[in-house]
Amino acid sequence: MITVAPIVNRDLRPLVDRFGRVHTNLRVSVTDRCNIRCFYCMPLENVQFKPRHEILSFEEIERFVRVAAGMGIRKIRLTGGEPLVRQDVDRLVAQLVRVPGIEDIALTTNGILLTQQAEGLKRAGLHRLNISLDTLSEERFQQIARREGIQRVLDGIAAAREAGFERIRLNAVAIRDLTEDDIVPLADFARRHGLELRFIEFMPLDGEQHWAGRQVLSGAEIRQRLEEAFGPLVPAARVNPSQPAVDFDFADGRGRIGLINPVTEPFCGDCDRLRLTAEGQIRNCLFSIEEWDARTLLRGKGTDEQLAAMIRESVGAKKAGHGIDSDEFVRPQRAMYQIGG
Ligand code: SAM
Ligand code: SF4
Repeated sequence: MITVAPIVNRDLRPLVDRFGRVHTNLRVSVTDRCNIRCFYCMPLENVQFKPRHEILSFEEIERFVRVAAGMGIRKIRLTGGEPLVRQDVDRLVAQLVRVPGIEDIALTTNGILLTQQAEGLKRAGLHRLNISLDTLSEERFQQIARREGIQRVLDGIAAAREAGFERIRLNAVAIRDLTEDDIVPLADFARRHGLELRFIEFMPLDGEQHWAGRQVLSGAEIRQRLEEAFGPLVPAARVNPSQPAVDFDFADGRGRIGLINPVTEPFCGDCDRLRLTAEGQIRNCLFSIEEWDARTLLRGKGTDEQLAAMIRESVGAKKAGHGIDSDEFVRPQRAMYQIGG
């Protein structure tokens, strides 16, 4: 039986930064491990994973989330690495669903293990699933992921639908000279299956540090290709200003496309997100080069109030934007799988 301890943090003010952005969204990485090796995220060889004892336990994550929820965090996204390689991640979902104040729990996965886990996640109370799918071709999948697996991903998507997940979103990273020919088939697939599809621009967070600006296939170019195939895309009403995607509906009313353009059209002005890495470091931005060590508080004699003060300090230090396009931009040392996308 899971017991929910009372929140003893008395600092219940919302998490507002110097630019007036209210933080309601927390991304929690549950592991830095993964069962594939996407080139835009992880190195192929000699990946340096954190030893198991450095990774937060479910109880430590739950305590962090309880304190953050007391300060206005409402939405949690579990990510990684690949969250489904962490044993019993459905048990964590069940723990977090009960945290007072948490209204929405989502999970981002590469889909490979979904066939086995979709039902358990649904039963545990997971609200939403994002599944990464950059291509429908096994050949291209292997070029990207450097492992086999497209059929398992497609089976995983089907299993998620059968388990009763609604509003499943597909995420596709778009890369120049590689995935242009996947744009229209992916959109077609999403439309046929009633799934929402989002294209994400390639960000400089790859483990091998080979990113170059010319590899970014921009949202504008993707839109153009889609319009050539499907006719004009109709901008959808922006319900939540802090959502990273700009959404469009197909003119025939069948389906929706989102474009996430962090490189060519940064949306930092509306960012409401905080991050907790698998080993318990708070980050106020994907691109931040500073971290706050929550694990030391969680494992030592740190009180909930000290934890709250640390969360507030990290929000207070948040910059106006990531500055990828500026000359002063410094790439974070960590790659995507070590942060939690
Ligand atoms: N393993 C899970 C997955 O792939 O869905 C969750 C973690 S992954 C880091 C989260 C998302 O970040 C995925 O949709 C992935 O495609 C995306 N991603 C990874 N590296 C990226 C990069 N350099 N630029 C843009 N998106 C990236
Ligand atoms: Fe693994 Fe996701 Fe990174 Fe791909 S993007 S290597 S699936 S963590």
